[in-house]
Amino acid sequence: MSIYERLNVRTLINAADSNTILGGSLMPPEVLKAMEEASRHFVNLEELHRKAGERIAELTRNEAAVVTSGAAAALTVATAACITGTDIRKVRKLPLPEGPKHDAVLLRCQRNGFDLAIAQTGVNMVEIGNVEGTAAWELEDAITERTACVFYFVSTLYSQGALPLEEVIRVASARNVPVIVDAAAHLPPVENLWRYTEMGASMVIFSGGKTLRGPQSSGFIVGKKEWIEACRLHVGAGISIGRPMKVGKEEIAGLVAAVERYMSLDHAAEKQRMERIVSEICGKLAEAGYKTRRRYPGPTGQDYPTAGVSRNDLPATEIKRRLENGDPAVITGLSRDRSEVVINPLHLQEDEVPVIIERLLNIGS
Ligand SMILES: *Cc1c(COP(=O)(O)O)cnc(C)c1O
Repeated sequence: MSIYERLNVRTLINAADSNTILGGSLMPPEVLKAMEEASRHFVNLEELHRKAGERIAELTRNEAAVVTSGAAAALTVATAACITGTDIRKVRKLPLPEGPKHDAVLLRCQRNGFDLAIAQTGVNMVEIGNVEGTAAWELEDAITERTACVFYFVSTLYSQGALPLEEVIRVASARNVPVIVDAAAHLPPVENLWRYTEMGASMVIFSGGKTLRGPQSSGFIVGKKEWIEACRLHVGAGISIGRPMKVGKEEIAGLVAAVERYMSLDHAAEKQRMERIVSEICGKLAEAGYKTRRRYPGPTGQDYPTAGVSRNDLPATEIKRRLENGDPAVITGLSRDRSEVVINPLHLQEDEVPVIIERLLNIGS
């Protein structure tokens, strides 16, 4: 019996997204192999961290990188780095920061659940703008002696009313304040791994367990050497606010293998695979009376399509519910206006596509 059978946990078909609640993503054999190899030997964790960071930086065309236990942990670690720099006395004082760097500036229209990870450093959250707009002068006014960093979330979920990232970087850089970009799920395109650092962001955060298909509890920060060195003081085996977010040697190894694999993928073929799944689902269901369409871009603005399906005689919320309650359980997304079931090809296995189509054809009335 498999571990899930022994625990009596049902397995799911993930047609939704790289959702944490569903397990993030599935690790390919290369990643599992690296984790298994890593599990057979003791190493010096600081040395492994440093070498893994160097490898990820090289692969992603960045100056430096550091591994974290996920993108949420990276938000904490990057904020902490901006408060403490490489001053070990300051490192040991979080979450009660001393000294002048107390503020993190955020765009009010980008506030989201993950920013608790920023607040837990003890930093003071300073909001600017609103959902109707954010002006450059508002950012200028918010930056003072006390500003540790400015945050930016690249996602279509948080773009309404946001100042463009270029402007944020221009204003903050002129005042020597680091900009931290959260791009956790913002792949593909692969170029995003270096796009924001090339634009001038000091640190950029990615999740290891989403599109990259590394361990679910892994992630990394890429960026400028000085800031990544400060991050190191919050991720290692030493005592810091990042200690409860420790990354094991197996996860570090798995993440490196996942990034290596992602960089060597045929991204055009991968995109074609997703287009093919979307057009097959749309085609087969349209023949059976569904309204279908290719949606673009991906759920938070990524460069891939999803399928939107709906019926006149059954609300999308009910279709979604029936898919979830059936056997096997199929988890889908829902459009923001709740009028369409959204089927995301990102994590679908080849043999799951006919299952989903079959289930939708027999959804009932
Ligand atoms: C998923 C996500 C995170 C958290 O990622 P983990 O790797 O699961 O910690 C943080 N920020 C954003 C914008 C995300 O989408």
